[in-house]
Amino acid sequence: MIDYQGILNNIYQEVSKETDKGEIATYIPELANVDKNAFGIHLHLISGENFSVGDSEKKFSIQSISKVLTLALAISKVGSDIWSRLDVEPSGNPFNHLSLLELEKGIPRNPLINSGAIVIADVLVSLFENPKEDFLAYVRDITGDSSINYNYKVANSEKKTGFNNYAAANLLKSFDNLNNNVEDVLDFYFHQCSLEMTCAQLTKAFYVFANKGKCLLEKTRLTKSQAKRINAIMLTCGFYDEAGEFAFEVGLPGKSGVGGGIVALLPNEFVISVWAPGLNERGNSKLGMQALEIFTSETNQSIF
Ligand code: GLU
Repeated sequence: MIDYQGILNNIYQEVSKETDKGEIATYIPELANVDKNAFGIHLHLISGENFSVGDSEKKFSIQSISKVLTLALAISKVGSDIWSRLDVEPSGNPFNHLSLLELEKGIPRNPLINSGAIVIADVLVSLFENPKEDFLAYVRDITGDSSINYNYKVANSEKKTGFNNYAAANLLKSFDNLNNNVEDVLDFYFHQCSLEMTCAQLTKAFYVFANKGKCLLEKTRLTKSQAKRINAIMLTCGFYDEAGEFAFEVGLPGKSGVGGGIVALLPNEFVISVWAPGLNERGNSKLGMQALEIFTSETNQSIF
């Protein structure tokens, strides 16, 4: 039996020594008010055991990690028709890159970059009468936790400074790949990104992907094939223009967000979340990546 708690404790010791903790994202002003020294990990085994260290029960802004959850909801409702509006190739570019979108005539490279997530947001705005309420209900349902909520201050802060996302949405609209109006779609998108969770809650939300589509309460929310495909997208596209580096260093499907969270999973085995708000130059949690590299090296558990 692997000594998971011992390994998490060692990781905590290791990363605490690190003097360069990366930089907190400030382009969304409300995100700048976070303690750079925060660090937490939660590990949830599919067999039911849980282990944690540090600030694993503190809420943080999950930001882009929400893109996997909106994708899951959209796929569960629309099925594979969704792929007529976006692709599944890594972009090799930052999350908010626009020139590729123009070059490829309004078809986003994948659903985990901003333009792709905005298309998915458009799908959900078309599907639901109250998309914000319905998406929140879905997240609470798969997580089995009704305390999860949006942070309205973060959503409003991003709305005021989200010029790049307005540009992406307008570009999509000009290529006829946005059915609703830009304001409504972005209002939904900024709220989904403002979702707050603890590391422990995040592992529960992603349990469905590690458990072949069945969420924590054993309800089927995705087919096995849908869960498999979403894991493939996380592996190839989950870390901005650093997806190759994450696969190389860590070797797990996962997703990061500019709030400093990373969630990763080994199908049928575990889900692990890390939160360390300082980011590296590519926008991924600096200590979070380091922690997960140590974790998969010490446990010898990865998909490779
Ligand atoms: N809400 C952020 C944005 O659209 C998400 C970025 C991220 O976490 O990658 O810029």
